[in-house]
Amino acid sequence: MVEARTYAEHEGTFQDKGKPDDRPCPKCGQMTVVYQIWESSCGGYEDVKYTCTNKACNCVWWVDGIDS
Ligand SMILES: [Zn+2]
Repeated sequence: MVEARTYAEHEGTFQDKGKPDDRPCPKCGQMTVVYQIWESSCGGYEDVKYTCTNKACNCVWWVDGIDS
């Protein structure tokens, strides 16, 4: 089961343009994953958005960050 995110993406901002992740994409297995820390506008919630930059894959997934 996939839980709905607490906030929509536009309710916060990314802290950076994306950094390469050191794990392969779970879908295509390529080392083409970048991640961005997302912080809610109220500042109390962080998630991490993972994007596979492999054009044949392009999968995106979110991981819950620290929930303060
Ligand atoms: Zn991929």
